[in-house]
Amino acid sequence: MLDIKDLSCGYGAFEAVHGISLSLRPGTITGLLGANGAGKSSTLMCLAGHVQLNGGRIVFNDEDISQLPAYERVRRGLAISPEGRRLFKDLSVEDNLRVGGLIRPKTDFAEDRDFVLSLFPRLGERLTSLAGNLSGGEQQMLAIGRALMTRPKVILIDELSLGLMPKVIDLCYHALDALKGKGMAILLVEQNTDRVLKIADDICVLESGRTVWQGSAQVAAQDPDLVAAYLGLH
Ligand code: ATP
Repeated sequence: MLDIKDLSCGYGAFEAVHGISLSLRPGTITGLLGANGAGKSSTLMCLAGHVQLNGGRIVFNDEDISQLPAYERVRRGLAISPEGRRLFKDLSVEDNLRVGGLIRPKTDFAEDRDFVLSLFPRLGERLTSLAGNLSGGEQQMLAIGRALMTRPKVILIDELSLGLMPKVIDLCYHALDALKGKGMAILLVEQNTDRVLKIADDICVLESGRTVWQGSAQVAAQDPDLVAAYLGLH
């Protein structure tokens, strides 16, 4: 569904990611792992059209979208829940969802909102609250929910569990499972290696902007050298 070929990206003269290739398939979760500064967020932001592409191609359902502006990528079905969530803090939960759904026909709003609320019932109890007043967990649910309002085929999620309570992390992972079941392709950036190895189909490990390991999550979890060297588990 989304084929990333030899992607390089960065900021002005500084190149953060040097030639990574990934293939995201419908109904699968791909975990993008690596230490701080490895280039995970830059990769996601480049795929979404917010960070400068220096080389390579992004092909979405056989169409090269590498040069399309961010909103055209959203229209085609590529959504991002970015690092730091970037919610509209002075808007209510419902209005944040409404902004997410602006590219959809107005008549789809209620159905799309209800789908988000079925995944995250807690948001239903907070519809009129300002996003800035939500807990960290609620904000994460809203960031994912806002992305889902675009009816994506591919969703890019940055730092899913950072700073969240274990119960909320469980809830978010449960939601990912449901999205995977609906045939969505998910690219997940996570610090929580243990969780990713359990839920992901494939993983890609970055170090200093390069891929150092790529393959099935099941194989990765059983490779003690890989785990010790790059994934911080023992
Ligand atoms: P983290 O988990 O800390 O977010 P990461 O793997 O997501 O790490 P990136 O945030 O993509 O890594 O950073 C990759 C490199 O790009 C780092 O060297 C970082 O300093 C640099 N970088 C990130 N954002 C910018 C920016 N806006 N301008 C310049 N350099 C940046």
